[in-house]
Amino acid sequence: MVSKSSSNGAGRSRAIKNTLARPLDRATIPIDRVSGVSDVFFTFDDGPHPTYTMAVAETLEAAGHRGTFFLTGANTERHPDVARRLVSGGHAVGSHSATHPRSRHSSASAVVRDYLRGHRAVQKAVGRSVPWFRPPYGAHDRRSSAASLICRAQVVLWSCDSEDWRPEATAAAVMASVEGNLVGGAIVLFHDAIMDEPAAAERGHTVEAVGYLIERLGREGRRSLALGSERSATTSDTGIG
Ligand SMILES: [Zn+2]
Repeated sequence: MVSKSSSNGAGRSRAIKNTLARPLDRATIPIDRVSGVSDVFFTFDDGPHPTYTMAVAETLEAAGHRGTFFLTGANTERHPDVARRLVSGGHAVGSHSATHPRSRHSSASAVVRDYLRGHRAVQKAVGRSVPWFRPPYGAHDRRSSAASLICRAQVVLWSCDSEDWRPEATAAAVMASVEGNLVGGAIVLFHDAIMDEPAAAERGHTVEAVGYLIERLGREGRRSLALGSERSATTSDTGIG
């Protein structure tokens, strides 16, 4: 057991070192919008949270919409049932690190390790491979690039920040940040939990704003879709691996 785990560890260290040495290449180009669709993509970071993640998921589902949830490893290990519930509800899940590190405080390889640990935790909880990854703070750099190459996940950023993470955020302010930016293919950033800002941990304003925004989309005959699900609707688009 010991020799097996240490040889796996050595292999992983080598892989991290080698990928960190590579230039940011085409394989790691993040997406911040999806082309060729009129629908949009609501995304939620830092969960799963037993109250707010479920509230957001049920609000979306009741109106026939879906979202994409970027889960941290730490919260996934606390609430694996919520992570599984998202998948069974037709939502997409991605990973969002294990502990949400502020990368400037750690070595590059420690940050990559945290990203990979988070990805494995989410995959383990949902029992399938997870194709999406969003680095904390949207900090796409050599570290997130290395992690995405090693775990073969597409890096996803956003085209619209709802600014629901601000401690003073209200539902009205979140709606105002998003409303003018709901162009086709928009990827919108929300938070269904907050990893490192307890003052902003209350997510009622996010749930309320999402309810209002999907009603508005519905009136326009549009939806929020789970990332990846647009491919089944548009077969001409080969999408991003
Ligand atoms: Zn985050």
